[in-house]
Amino acid sequence: MDIYGILAHPAKQSLSPAMHNAAFKELKINAEYKYFDVKPESLTAFIKKLYKLNIKGLSVSKPYKEAIIKYLDRIDGIAKKIGAVNTVKLFKGKLIGTNFDWIGVQNSLLEKTGIHGRTVVILGAGGAAAAALYAVKKNKAKNIFVLNRTISHAKELAEKFNCKYGKFKDFKDIHPDIIIQATSAGMNNSRGVQIIPKAFLKPNMVVMEMIYTPRMTRILKDAKVIGAKIITGERMLLHQGFAAFEFWTGKKAPVEIMEKAVNKRLA
Ligand code: NAP
Repeated sequence: MDIYGILAHPAKQSLSPAMHNAAFKELKINAEYKYFDVKPESLTAFIKKLYKLNIKGLSVSKPYKEAIIKYLDRIDGIAKKIGAVNTVKLFKGKLIGTNFDWIGVQNSLLEKTGIHGRTVVILGAGGAAAAALYAVKKNKAKNIFVLNRTISHAKELAEKFNCKYGKFKDFKDIHPDIIIQATSAGMNNSRGVQIIPKAFLKPNMVVMEMIYTPRMTRILKDAKVIGAKIITGERMLLHQGFAAFEFWTGKKAPVEIMEKAVNKRLA
């Protein structure tokens, strides 16, 4: 049996096992997707064991998206540009890394809005924000702003992608078409954290969230109340998951089955 899994710490909150195991079952693939909750001090030992465990692919999440890179034989140009790997394939004795988070962002947005020519604000400046930047740049957004709590992080990321940057308070002067919430503020917090005051959100905006626990975060609740379009965080998880499944197995992802599995877990 082929083994796949989520490499993270902690890992137990991940919806990826439910999503991929449902897909393996549907396509009658003899494989299992597991949780690999690995502590930082055990990462090297875990990587050494990959072949012994018959692992064929990994999803990589916090805190390993950058740390995994030094163990890989090859990463593609996209992962290099984003500076993070979220998917690994073991192929012909080599560890190959790529990043499908940008596809998750792109395809979630395209379900609700065009990107070309739009003004986009990205909240956050970590690895997920970098994937969002890659996605909106590739789709030719007109103006892109990175707003972050720590200005030096925003500056570093914005300079890498040649876009503008600032602090959250600068939001009120931008009037974006699209907002992508890519901070971890409010994760696993049902009361939520307000980063952008509700008064600055407008009905003609599209607000995309990356966090999916809780599903309705503070910014999504505020955006919904004022009549803006919203995109919940599991859409990104699903779209990157479809891409990873196809990269690993060479088979078309059974998208409805995977959606059903994720929605069931979130319900
Ligand atoms: P990261 O590299 O650790 O970056 C975290 C970002 O959040 C930084 O910009 C940080 O700001 C900011 N932040 C953290 N706490 C904050 C607070 N209390 N107030 C304001 N800003 C705060 O994390 P990441 O990998 O980019 O992930 C970001 C989020 O996206 C996480 O919640 C993650 O679960 C989610 N995500 C979801 C998907 C999906 O498929 N749906 C995929 C990837 C990531 P500073 O620079 O000031 O520290």
